[in-house]
Amino acid sequence: MDVKPRLPRGRQFFANPGPTNIPDSILKAVAHVSIDFNDPAFLKVYDAAVAGVKRILKTQHEVFLYTGSGHAAWEAALVNLFSAGDVLLVPETGHFSDSWGKMAKDFGLGVRTLAADWRRGIDFAELRGVLAADSGHAIKAICAVHNETATGMVLPLAEIRAALDATDHPALLLADTISSLGSMEFAMDAWGVDVAVGGSQKGLMLPTGMSFTGVSPKGMAAHAGSTLPKSYLNWTNMLTRRHKSFIGTVPTSLFYGLEESIRLLEEEGLDEVFDRHARLGEAVRRCVRHWSGNNGPSLFCLSPDRYSNSVTAVLMPEGHDAEAVRRIALQTFNVSLGGGLSRLGGKVFRIGHLGDLNEPMILGTLSTVEMALRLAGVPHTPGGVNAAIAYLAEVAQGS
Ligand SMILES: *Cc1c(COP(=O)(O)O)cnc(C)c1O
Repeated sequence: MDVKPRLPRGRQFFANPGPTNIPDSILKAVAHVSIDFNDPAFLKVYDAAVAGVKRILKTQHEVFLYTGSGHAAWEAALVNLFSAGDVLLVPETGHFSDSWGKMAKDFGLGVRTLAADWRRGIDFAELRGVLAADSGHAIKAICAVHNETATGMVLPLAEIRAALDATDHPALLLADTISSLGSMEFAMDAWGVDVAVGGSQKGLMLPTGMSFTGVSPKGMAAHAGSTLPKSYLNWTNMLTRRHKSFIGTVPTSLFYGLEESIRLLEEEGLDEVFDRHARLGEAVRRCVRHWSGNNGPSLFCLSPDRYSNSVTAVLMPEGHDAEAVRRIALQTFNVSLGGGLSRLGGKVFRIGHLGDLNEPMILGTLSTVEMALRLAGVPHTPGGVNAAIAYLAEVAQGS
């Protein structure tokens, strides 16, 4: 069926899992005139923002920041910690664990994958087995993607820490919290994470272009012995600078935005922020479950204890193209959904429900997806939005 594109009018509903909606107060904050990055007025903002990032990461350790998206922080973690031939263990989660692993291979590191069904996630008994069998401690680190943005599944980091502890394995624990930080519980120090990788444009609601790593003392010790070539991203070089980060110009405007982002998150309270994401995520899942009747689209994630509260991947029924649904949502109704990544291209679409988002925004998005399903001729049980409405009203009444 042909659906006529329309000129975009009204506010675009942006339901991508990253970048995310930027609140007006952050947009105003980043619109700051240029300022010398050594100006005392800026240094005050800078130091407060870095302290805020530590509170959000729940860490007392060192934090290094980069002008670059999340991939830059991935790269910083690898080149600062390892030497050619070091072996890393990558629990398979989906597109993002594959990409981080591929980057490690590009740097001459050995990558062992703990294979998993993308719809179910890894088996922790298998992880313990692999660690126990590695009595020579060839594995130098585990690179774990906390929230797999491609599939909408969480990898429980505390259980990875427990597997390392139970087997007395000294491997570093690296955690990608790019799409979980500021939307789901993350506790770097309590979970014994050695290097936490975060980015600006997801839960922190900032423009793209800044990323960071928290680094434990054990991580800093590994850094001291690392011989992979590095310069711009070298932590030792960064520590000689006033900002303890950034070899070149500091992206000052992003720090004015970061100051406001932290203010917003802490004004609401991190636990409240996580609760909001949990209820919006559950509303989306109830809606999708309703649609799934009549051979409709269904939840890609098949492990209910690992549902992501920041993104839901929706699996299309066999023979139907997710891109057709996305195209109608965007071109006719001005709603931007996430697409399927790598092997999930065309098979899933993703509803991002993280960042600056409330009930009406998510209900508007779900209503639009249902219209697009109808227009694209995709079978489904109509009325999924009612399941979301009923749930969200019930939760509001109980609070
Ligand atoms: C977005 C994302 C990345 C990549 O970050 P960029 O900022 O796009 O470079 C890495 N890991 C996860 C889990 C992500 O969601």
